[in-house]
Amino acid sequence: MNDSKEQAIKSTTCEFTYDWYRNFLQGLNDADRNFTTYDGEIETGDVLLRHDVDLSVERAVRMAEIEAAEGVQATYFLLVTTKMYNLLNDEVRERVSRIRSLGHNIGLHFSTHQYYEEEPRTKSLVKRIEIERQIFKMATGIPVDTVSFHIPPDWVLRQSFDDFVSTYEERFFSEISYRGDSNQRWRNDPPFDSGYPEKLQILVHPGLWGENDREFEDCVHRAVDNVAESVDTFANRQYIEDELSG
Ligand SMILES: [Zn+2]
Repeated sequence: MNDSKEQAIKSTTCEFTYDWYRNFLQGLNDADRNFTTYDGEIETGDVLLRHDVDLSVERAVRMAEIEAAEGVQATYFLLVTTKMYNLLNDEVRERVSRIRSLGHNIGLHFSTHQYYEEEPRTKSLVKRIEIERQIFKMATGIPVDTVSFHIPPDWVLRQSFDDFVSTYEERFFSEISYRGDSNQRWRNDPPFDSGYPEKLQILVHPGLWGENDREFEDCVHRAVDNVAESVDTFANRQYIEDELSG
């Protein structure tokens, strides 16, 4: 293989760094793509950029800042039921506000796995989602009308619901192309090797990205370590230090 060919392949190889992500956004901007939201019709040239916040709200803020600097708007989906962060906690609420203040949208990341092992009645599912949307709004003050399912089971794919928009509705797949970075699969399969599709939905998990490139499992461990440290600091301040001074 000659050097220039090797270079061309290298340039499309995905590294999970903020530098790579910035270039990725700039490429879409240079191709005149328009970043849009889930509540309207998708036109030619539109991009739905979505983030499922599984591991770290802190990293979601960092990503939101990079996007804002590039003039890019995204939708951030947050979990109510995760052990990784608590939407009622003051630091988390501030981070969610910060993402919103940067011009992004917020949605509910809903885990069916918390409630169901197999397909429930639609009525039950819709009720659970309604409860979580209410909790979300009460916790953050933000109404959430768009839902993204966490590790979606087959029975939510291509389904539509009356009360909210689902990112897995038929129209977001049959009419537009989809590129997702789940499990860092872009390492072996870069998202735009064959050019930019005309209509596009992109899923990016903020917890898989950083200043330096790290493998998927490292990213998960890093997030767990950060949660442990944060709980440790919280508990020390709240119980041990207060005990000594009190
Ligand atoms: Zn998820």
